[in-house]
Amino acid sequence: MTIQWFPGHMTKARRQIQEKLKLIDAVIELTDARLPLSSRNPMIDEILQGKPRLIILNKADLADPEVTRQWLSYFKEEGHTSFPVDASTGTGLKEIPNQVRLLLKDKIDKQIAKGMKPRPVRVLIVGIPNVGKSTLINRLAGRSIAATGDRPGVTKGQQWIKVSGGDMELLDTPGILWPKFEDQNVGYRLAVTGAIREEILNVEDIAFFAIKYFSRYYWKDMSERFELKEQPTDFDNPDEIVALMEAIGRKRGCMMSGGRVDLEKASSIFLRELRAGKMGRFSLEAPY
Ligand code: GDP
Repeated sequence: MTIQWFPGHMTKARRQIQEKLKLIDAVIELTDARLPLSSRNPMIDEILQGKPRLIILNKADLADPEVTRQWLSYFKEEGHTSFPVDASTGTGLKEIPNQVRLLLKDKIDKQIAKGMKPRPVRVLIVGIPNVGKSTLINRLAGRSIAATGDRPGVTKGQQWIKVSGGDMELLDTPGILWPKFEDQNVGYRLAVTGAIREEILNVEDIAFFAIKYFSRYYWKDMSERFELKEQPTDFDNPDEIVALMEAIGRKRGCMMSGGRVDLEKASSIFLRELRAGKMGRFSLEAPY
Protein backbone atom coordinates (compact mmCIF):
# COMPACT_ATOMS: atom_id res chain seq x y z
CA MET A 1 0.00 0.00 0.00
CA THR A 2 1.79 3.12 -1.16
CA ILE A 3 0.38 6.46 -2.08
CA GLN A 4 1.99 8.51 -4.80
CA TRP A 5 1.95 12.01 -3.41
CA PHE A 6 1.57 14.67 -6.04
CA PRO A 7 1.26 18.35 -5.11
CA GLY A 8 -2.48 18.18 -5.72
CA HIS A 9 -2.83 15.28 -3.29
CA MET A 10 -0.92 17.19 -0.63
CA THR A 11 -3.09 20.26 -0.97
CA LYS A 12 -6.22 18.13 -0.82
CA ALA A 13 -5.01 16.12 2.18
CA ARG A 14 -4.11 19.29 4.00
CA ARG A 15 -7.43 20.92 3.23
CA GLN A 16 -9.33 17.84 4.41
CA ILE A 17 -7.53 17.86 7.74
CA GLN A 18 -8.03 21.57 8.22
CA GLU A 19 -11.77 21.15 7.56
CA LYS A 20 -11.88 18.52 10.29
CA LEU A 21 -9.97 20.68 12.75
CA LYS A 22 -13.12 22.78 13.11
CA LEU A 23 -14.95 19.74 14.48
CA ILE A 24 -12.46 18.56 17.05
CA ASP A 25 -10.82 19.54 20.35
CA ALA A 26 -7.51 17.73 20.00
CA VAL A 27 -5.35 15.81 17.54
CA ILE A 28 -3.57 12.54 18.02
CA GLU A 29 -0.48 12.56 15.85
CA LEU A 30 0.56 8.99 15.19
CA THR A 31 4.21 8.22 14.49
CA ASP A 32 6.24 5.03 14.19
CA ALA A 33 8.27 4.51 17.38
CA ARG A 34 11.19 3.14 15.34
CA LEU A 35 11.54 6.41 13.43
CA PRO A 36 9.49 9.07 15.20
CA LEU A 37 10.78 11.99 13.16
CA SER A 38 11.03 10.34 9.77
CA SER A 39 7.45 9.11 10.11
CA ARG A 40 6.09 12.63 10.68
CA ASN A 41 4.79 15.12 8.22
CA PRO A 42 7.23 17.99 7.66
CA MET A 43 4.48 20.63 7.86
CA ILE A 44 2.59 19.21 10.80
CA ASP A 45 2.89 22.25 13.08
CA GLU A 46 1.61 24.55 10.36
CA ILE A 47 -1.21 22.22 9.35
CA LEU A 48 -2.54 21.72 12.87
CA GLN A 49 -2.70 25.46 13.54
CA GLY A 50 -2.01 25.15 17.25
CA LYS A 51 -4.66 22.50 18.02
CA PRO A 52 -3.81 20.67 21.25
CA ARG A 53 -1.93 17.58 20.24
CA LEU A 54 -0.84 14.26 21.68
CA ILE A 55 2.05 12.48 19.97
CA ILE A 56 1.79 8.72 20.00
CA LEU A 57 4.72 6.46 19.22
CA ASN A 58 3.02 3.41 17.74
CA LYS A 59 4.56 0.00 17.04
CA ALA A 60 6.56 0.43 20.23
CA ASP A 61 6.57 -3.38 20.41
CA LEU A 62 9.01 -3.36 17.48
CA ALA A 63 11.20 -0.46 18.64
CA ASP A 64 14.31 -0.44 20.83
CA PRO A 65 12.93 0.39 24.32
CA GLU A 66 15.98 2.43 25.32
CA VAL A 67 15.72 4.61 22.22
CA THR A 68 11.97 4.99 22.74
CA ARG A 69 12.71 6.37 26.23
CA GLN A 70 15.04 8.90 24.66
CA TRP A 71 12.32 9.96 22.22
CA LEU A 72 9.86 10.53 25.06
CA SER A 73 12.39 12.90 26.70
CA TYR A 74 12.99 14.57 23.37
CA PHE A 75 9.31 15.31 22.78
CA LYS A 76 8.92 16.50 26.37
CA GLU A 77 11.74 18.98 25.80
CA GLU A 78 9.92 20.10 22.67
CA GLY A 79 6.88 20.80 24.82
CA HIS A 80 4.78 17.83 23.70
CA THR A 81 3.13 15.01 25.57
CA SER A 82 4.04 11.71 23.97
CA PHE A 83 3.80 8.08 24.89
CA PRO A 84 4.38 4.66 23.35
CA VAL A 85 1.65 2.22 22.36
CA ASP A 86 1.18 -1.00 20.45
CA ALA A 87 -2.07 -0.56 18.56
CA SER A 88 -1.99 -4.09 17.19
CA THR A 89 -2.40 -5.64 20.67
CA GLY A 90 -3.87 -2.60 22.42
CA THR A 91 -0.99 -2.10 24.87
CA GLY A 92 -0.96 1.47 26.20
CA LEU A 93 -4.24 2.50 24.59
CA LYS A 94 -6.11 2.89 27.90
CA GLU A 95 -3.95 5.94 28.61
CA ILE A 96 -5.13 7.81 25.52
CA PRO A 97 -8.45 9.27 26.80
CA ASN A 98 -6.81 10.29 30.11
CA GLN A 99 -3.95 12.00 28.31
CA VAL A 100 -6.28 13.82 25.94
CA ARG A 101 -8.36 15.09 28.84
CA LEU A 102 -5.19 16.21 30.59
CA LEU A 103 -4.22 18.11 27.47
CA LEU A 104 -7.60 19.89 27.54
CA LYS A 105 -7.76 20.31 31.31
CA ASP A 106 -7.95 24.12 31.29
CA LYS A 107 -10.79 24.13 28.78
CA ILE A 108 -12.71 21.44 30.65
CA ASP A 109 -12.17 23.18 34.02
CA LYS A 110 -13.52 26.42 32.55
CA GLN A 111 -16.66 24.63 31.34
CA ILE A 112 -17.16 23.15 34.80
CA ALA A 113 -16.57 26.54 36.46
CA LYS A 114 -19.31 28.01 34.27
CA GLY A 115 -21.65 25.29 35.47
CA MET A 116 -21.59 23.49 32.14
CA LYS A 117 -21.49 19.74 31.90
CA PRO A 118 -18.35 18.92 29.90
CA ARG A 119 -19.19 17.15 26.68
CA PRO A 120 -17.05 14.28 25.38
CA VAL A 121 -13.73 15.49 23.96
CA ARG A 122 -13.54 15.12 20.20
CA VAL A 123 -10.39 13.83 18.59
CA LEU A 124 -8.90 13.32 15.12
CA ILE A 125 -6.10 10.86 14.40
CA VAL A 126 -3.55 11.97 11.82
CA GLY A 127 -0.41 10.41 10.39
CA ILE A 128 1.42 9.26 7.28
CA PRO A 129 0.38 6.02 5.55
CA ASN A 130 1.20 2.78 7.33
CA VAL A 131 1.83 4.17 10.83
CA GLY A 132 -1.20 2.29 12.14
CA LYS A 133 -4.04 4.83 12.02
CA SER A 134 -6.70 2.31 11.01
CA THR A 135 -5.43 -0.26 13.48
CA LEU A 136 -5.61 2.31 16.28
CA ILE A 137 -9.09 3.51 15.34
CA ASN A 138 -10.40 -0.05 15.19
CA ARG A 139 -8.83 -0.86 18.56
CA LEU A 140 -10.23 2.24 20.23
CA ALA A 141 -13.63 1.56 18.69
CA GLY A 142 -13.54 -2.07 19.73
CA ARG A 143 -14.70 -3.05 16.25
CA SER A 144 -13.65 -2.83 12.65
CA ILE A 145 -14.27 0.66 11.31
CA ALA A 146 -11.54 2.25 9.27
CA ALA A 147 -10.57 0.56 6.05
CA THR A 148 -6.82 -0.03 6.11
CA GLY A 149 -5.08 1.57 3.18
CA ASP A 150 -7.29 4.64 3.07
CA ARG A 151 -6.25 7.12 0.42
CA PRO A 152 -6.00 10.87 0.50
CA GLY A 153 -8.71 12.61 -1.38
CA VAL A 154 -11.26 9.88 -0.77
CA THR A 155 -13.93 10.99 1.60
CA LYS A 156 -16.70 8.92 3.04
CA GLY A 157 -19.44 9.65 5.50
CA GLN A 158 -17.97 10.68 8.81
CA GLN A 159 -19.02 9.29 12.10
CA TRP A 160 -18.11 9.83 15.71
CA ILE A 161 -16.88 6.76 17.52
CA LYS A 162 -17.35 6.62 21.26
CA VAL A 163 -14.27 5.63 23.23
CA SER A 164 -13.96 4.86 26.93
CA GLY A 165 -17.43 5.24 28.40
CA GLY A 166 -18.36 8.23 26.25
CA ASP A 167 -15.89 10.82 27.52
CA MET A 168 -13.95 10.75 24.27
CA GLU A 169 -15.16 10.66 20.69
CA LEU A 170 -13.09 9.90 17.66
CA LEU A 171 -13.62 10.75 14.00
CA ASP A 172 -13.81 7.44 12.15
CA THR A 173 -11.75 8.69 9.19
CA PRO A 174 -8.13 9.52 9.96
CA GLY A 175 -6.24 12.44 8.46
CA ILE A 176 -3.66 11.08 6.05
CA LEU A 177 -0.47 13.09 5.67
CA TRP A 178 2.56 12.76 3.44
CA PRO A 179 6.04 11.99 4.74
CA LYS A 180 9.11 14.13 4.24
CA PHE A 181 10.54 13.50 0.80
CA GLU A 182 13.46 15.88 0.63
CA ASP A 183 15.78 13.86 2.84
CA GLN A 184 16.90 10.61 1.23
CA ASN A 185 17.63 8.99 4.59
CA VAL A 186 14.03 9.53 5.61
CA GLY A 187 12.97 7.57 2.55
CA TYR A 188 15.36 4.76 3.40
CA ARG A 189 14.23 4.53 7.00
CA LEU A 190 10.61 4.31 5.90
CA ALA A 191 11.54 1.73 3.26
CA VAL A 192 13.36 -0.44 5.80
CA THR A 193 10.13 -0.70 7.80
CA GLY A 194 8.18 -1.51 4.64
CA ALA A 195 6.28 1.78 4.60
CA ILE A 196 7.59 2.61 1.12
CA ARG A 197 7.44 -0.01 -1.55
CA GLU A 198 10.59 -1.44 -3.06
CA GLU A 199 9.56 -0.32 -6.52
CA ILE A 200 10.27 3.24 -5.44
CA LEU A 201 13.64 2.70 -3.79
CA ASN A 202 15.96 -0.06 -4.95
CA VAL A 203 15.91 -3.13 -2.67
CA GLU A 204 19.70 -3.39 -2.58
CA ASP A 205 20.00 0.26 -1.57
CA ILE A 206 17.44 -0.24 1.19
CA ALA A 207 19.27 -3.33 2.50
CA PHE A 208 22.61 -1.52 2.26
CA PHE A 209 21.19 1.30 4.37
CA ALA A 210 19.81 -1.15 6.95
CA ILE A 211 22.96 -3.29 7.12
CA LYS A 212 25.10 -0.20 7.58
CA TYR A 213 22.86 0.98 10.41
CA PHE A 214 22.79 -2.44 12.07
CA SER A 215 26.59 -2.74 11.73
CA ARG A 216 26.89 0.31 13.87
CA TYR A 217 24.06 0.01 16.35
CA TYR A 218 22.84 -3.58 16.38
CA TRP A 219 25.91 -5.54 15.37
CA LYS A 220 25.32 -8.30 17.90
CA ASP A 221 21.78 -9.04 16.67
CA MET A 222 22.76 -9.05 13.02
CA SER A 223 26.09 -10.88 13.35
CA GLU A 224 24.57 -13.64 15.46
CA ARG A 225 21.76 -14.27 13.03
CA PHE A 226 23.96 -14.41 9.93
CA GLU A 227 27.16 -15.59 11.62
CA LEU A 228 29.08 -12.55 10.52
CA LYS A 229 32.65 -12.44 11.76
CA GLU A 230 34.06 -8.94 11.58
CA GLN A 231 32.34 -5.74 12.45
CA PRO A 232 33.23 -3.03 9.93
CA THR A 233 35.89 -0.65 11.14
CA ASP A 234 34.85 2.15 8.82
CA PHE A 235 31.07 2.36 8.49
CA ASP A 236 31.38 4.86 5.68
CA ASN A 237 33.39 2.51 3.54
CA PRO A 238 30.86 0.95 1.16
CA ASP A 239 33.13 -2.02 0.47
CA GLU A 240 32.90 -3.15 4.06
CA ILE A 241 29.09 -3.02 3.97
CA VAL A 242 28.89 -4.80 0.62
CA ALA A 243 31.18 -7.52 2.04
CA LEU A 244 28.57 -8.05 4.77
CA MET A 245 25.77 -8.20 2.19
CA GLU A 246 27.73 -10.89 0.38
CA ALA A 247 28.30 -12.84 3.57
CA ILE A 248 24.57 -12.66 4.32
CA GLY A 249 23.81 -13.85 0.79
CA ARG A 250 26.22 -16.77 1.07
CA LYS A 251 24.68 -17.72 4.40
CA ARG A 252 21.24 -17.83 2.77
CA GLY A 253 22.41 -19.63 -0.37
CA CYS A 254 21.85 -16.69 -2.74
CA MET A 255 24.44 -17.72 -5.32
CA MET A 256 24.69 -17.01 -9.02
CA SER A 257 26.78 -18.74 -11.64
CA GLY A 258 30.50 -18.15 -11.26
CA GLY A 259 30.20 -18.14 -7.48
CA ARG A 260 28.95 -14.59 -7.28
CA VAL A 261 26.42 -13.61 -4.63
CA ASP A 262 22.96 -12.56 -5.81
CA LEU A 263 22.81 -9.29 -3.89
CA GLU A 264 19.24 -8.53 -4.86
CA LYS A 265 18.02 -11.82 -3.45
CA ALA A 266 20.21 -11.44 -0.36
CA SER A 267 18.75 -7.96 0.18
CA SER A 268 15.17 -9.19 -0.07
CA ILE A 269 15.80 -11.99 2.38
CA PHE A 270 17.58 -9.71 4.81
CA LEU A 271 14.77 -7.16 4.78
CA ARG A 272 12.10 -9.83 5.10
CA GLU A 273 13.78 -11.28 8.19
CA LEU A 274 14.35 -7.83 9.66
CA ARG A 275 10.70 -6.86 9.24
CA ALA A 276 9.58 -10.19 10.67
CA GLY A 277 11.43 -9.29 13.86
CA LYS A 278 14.11 -11.97 13.45
CA MET A 279 16.80 -9.54 14.51
CA GLY A 280 14.89 -8.33 17.51
CA ARG A 281 13.58 -4.89 18.29
CA PHE A 282 15.28 -1.94 16.68
CA SER A 283 14.98 1.79 16.11
CA LEU A 284 16.26 3.52 13.01
CA GLU A 285 16.91 6.95 14.48
CA ALA A 286 17.67 8.35 17.89
CA PRO A 287 17.35 11.92 19.13
CA TYR A 288 20.65 12.18 20.99
P1 GDP B 1 -2.54 3.19 8.34
O1 GDP B 1 -2.15 3.22 6.90
O2 GDP B 1 -1.89 4.30 9.11
O3 GDP B 1 -4.02 3.13 8.57
O4 GDP B 1 -1.88 1.85 8.96
P2 GDP B 1 -2.56 0.43 9.29
O5 GDP B 1 -3.46 0.57 10.46
O6 GDP B 1 -3.12 -0.12 8.04
O7 GDP B 1 -1.27 -0.39 9.75
C1 GDP B 1 -0.20 -0.66 8.88
C2 GDP B 1 0.46 -1.98 9.30
O8 GDP B 1 1.08 -1.84 10.57
C3 GDP B 1 -0.51 -3.12 9.44
O9 GDP B 1 0.10 -4.28 8.92
C4 GDP B 1 -0.73 -3.23 10.93
O10 GDP B 1 -1.05 -4.54 11.31
C5 GDP B 1 0.63 -2.84 11.46
N1 GDP B 1 0.55 -2.25 12.81
C6 GDP B 1 -0.24 -1.22 13.21
N2 GDP B 1 -0.01 -0.92 14.51
C7 GDP B 1 0.95 -1.77 14.94
C8 GDP B 1 1.64 -1.94 16.21
O11 GDP B 1 1.44 -1.22 17.19
N3 GDP B 1 2.58 -2.92 16.25
C9 GDP B 1 2.86 -3.71 15.19
N4 GDP B 1 3.80 -4.66 15.34
N5 GDP B 1 2.24 -3.57 14.01
C10 GDP B 1 1.31 -2.62 13.87
